[in-house]
Amino acid sequence: MFAGALVAATLASCGHEQQVTGNFDSEAMNAMLQTESQFGDIALGSDSWEVVICQIPRDTTDPIFEPGNERLKLSSADIVHELDPVVDYFSRWSNGRYLPKFTAVNGVSISADEKSDVCVDRALDQSLDSTRGVLVIANAQHTETAVGGWGRPGSPCVENCSARLTRRAVYVGASDFMPYWNGHPPLDLIEHEMGHALDWPHSSTSVDNFGNGVYDSAVDVMSNSAAPRDINSDERNAPGSLGINMYLAGWLDDGNVALVDSGTKSFELVATNTGLVVDGLRLVLVPLNNSTVISVEVIGATGDNRHLLHDRVVVHQIEVVGMNGFERRQTVLDADLQVGKSWSNGKVAITVKQLVTTNSVSTAKIEVRIAP
Ligand SMILES: [Zn+2]
Repeated sequence: MFAGALVAATLASCGHEQQVTGNFDSEAMNAMLQTESQFGDIALGSDSWEVVICQIPRDTTDPIFEPGNERLKLSSADIVHELDPVVDYFSRWSNGRYLPKFTAVNGVSISADEKSDVCVDRALDQSLDSTRGVLVIANAQHTETAVGGWGRPGSPCVENCSARLTRRAVYVGASDFMPYWNGHPPLDLIEHEMGHALDWPHSSTSVDNFGNGVYDSAVDVMSNSAAPRDINSDERNAPGSLGINMYLAGWLDDGNVALVDSGTKSFELVATNTGLVVDGLRLVLVPLNNSTVISVEVIGATGDNRHLLHDRVVVHQIEVVGMNGFERRQTVLDADLQVGKSWSNGKVAITVKQLVTTNSVSTAKIEVRIAP
């Protein structure tokens, strides 16, 4: 329990009322909590982000950029305006506990022989002490085969976490903000990269996918963030976040999480997109070994997750890797467990006994059976 106690002490020193203290009978969970404690309140409260446009010269030699003369015409203030739904998105999924605050600032530029990353270095170097992250948008589009962007939480920091020191940043190409979108840009990429800036890792449907850039799960903003748009081209947000990320961010409380490590136990789970005014469990965790747990949660097919078309229980394997959250390996074990069905690895069996929606709150009764 040493790690759990250390987490509680570290967080208490921030001066925030902190509902996530941990102290699980699971080395894997305590390791995750300790890792997140190094980032202080990175995912809580008002989070100041500077929005910066980077001018890319027409003769740029960085192959990430589409050749040609087309450039974004929006100002950083225009972009801030278009980011309102991103603020809403994080407000909803954090249960009102996390609010990115975007502020337009002066642009930066790079020369023809400098790479896109230099945009971010310049934006960070010019940022105010009180700024905790910079969101940099290149005014040129990336090629179709290049990544859309990236995000990072920066170096661990608990107090006065100025982005100029931690180097916390999100960077994207211009594609999602070009005139083609008529002021209604897709925001799933920004939401995904902001997730990395909260120290969240990718997830995918196979352990073999890690390191191969295959992010193919439709139930997680940190995987196929465009999944809602793939179903309905009018959608703009990413899918919601996974319960494990919500909990480690401090968006769920200890009382919303149960851990089971032996025997047979039954639980009623409330869908993760339900406001905390509704009591109840959001996440059941089953430790597999010192570095791995299985997570079980209910995803309601409404709001950001309406592309899923029906409510479901989802099961993930969460493996601690490295000393950062963004290196955790989160693998889908079952993305659509329905009533009467079970998932099992031979040692742990999870069965859905009931899955219902009452007054727009989706709940499931599940049974977890662990072989002796
Ligand atoms: Zn990513």
